[in-house]
Amino acid sequence: MASPFPGLLPSLPFSPSSPPPSIFPGKPLPRLRAAVSAALQWNRKPQLAGETPRVVVVTSGKGGVGKTTTTANVGLSLARFGFSVVAVDADAGLRNLDLLLGLENRVNYTAVEVLNGDCRLDQALIRDRRCPSLELLCISKPRSKLPLGFGAKALTWVVDALRSRPSGAPHFVLIDCPAGIDAGFITAIAPANEALLVTTPDITALRDADRVTGLLECDGIRDIKMVVNRVRTDLIRGEDMMSVIDVQEMLGLALLGVIPEDSEVIKSTNRGYPLVLNKPPTVAGLAFEQAAWRLVEQDTMTAVMVEEEPKKKGFFSFFGG
Ligand code: ADP
Ligand code: MG
Repeated sequence: MASPFPGLLPSLPFSPSSPPPSIFPGKPLPRLRAAVSAALQWNRKPQLAGETPRVVVVTSGKGGVGKTTTTANVGLSLARFGFSVVAVDADAGLRNLDLLLGLENRVNYTAVEVLNGDCRLDQALIRDRRCPSLELLCISKPRSKLPLGFGAKALTWVVDALRSRPSGAPHFVLIDCPAGIDAGFITAIAPANEALLVTTPDITALRDADRVTGLLECDGIRDIKMVVNRVRTDLIRGEDMMSVIDVQEMLGLALLGVIPEDSEVIKSTNRGYPLVLNKPPTVAGLAFEQAAWRLVEQDTMTAVMVEEEPKKKGFFSFFGG
């Protein structure tokens, strides 16, 4: 059967030798859907590499490139793989990770109140009922400015407190970083030992991403992997958008994932229902899930350029092996 998403279908992180079980009992699945629904069906959990907790900052420099979307979807995917995750919304002024996760009505306390001694840490951690191994921690109330006292030291203290929780340290702490490279950025990167740099394939985002890479390296964060978001193969084919290979050549970073432009992302943002929970899965949702899989295993992918058909030269596929 010809793929309805030529060049877009991601390669699965494993090679199933037999068809995966159906997630829709009683309904036979078309082969493509069976393949794309396989990631969470396969009887294997990704192998966790590195020391835990893995403290990962999701950053970009430029705003609006998909940091919060990535934090929500990668965070939920990790939790669905069976890892414990604390997603920290460090974008104090423009807090919206709670909205994307659909948890906005449950945020009563934030890290600022924990630091002031007004509540306990576990009271500020909001457990996602759909996926209980994901917890959200907001730094401050929406529209409030980060208090002057809340800087790099304070966030590092919060992450250390998560590390020494009586219930055990989480496997992952994902920090959703604000845009820019000022105080909020410095605070967000302070406790991290690895970074996930989100960029879109446009020149302004790339310049910011390059600057941020330099700053992360100066801060001692050497493990930096990038996610290229909002990629459109039709534009790449018409040479109106940079290919992922170009992006990789410009930034020189390891590639963790490539996420296509997908209107489902906007719908899921507005519903507070992250894409990776969608059934049947969407292409962007699967791409986020695969990025999460690679993050767990400290794996990377290679952007490849493939010719879809022998006569059609120059067709770019951004999913690699
Ligand atoms: P940031 O946190 O970097 O400011 P967001 O995650 O809030 O960015 O995303 C900004 C906007 O872009 C949101 O409206 C989101 O729905 C949209 N968006 C993000 N990724 C995609 C995508 N792959 N396809 C379509 N829209 C996207
Ligand atoms: Mg954001």
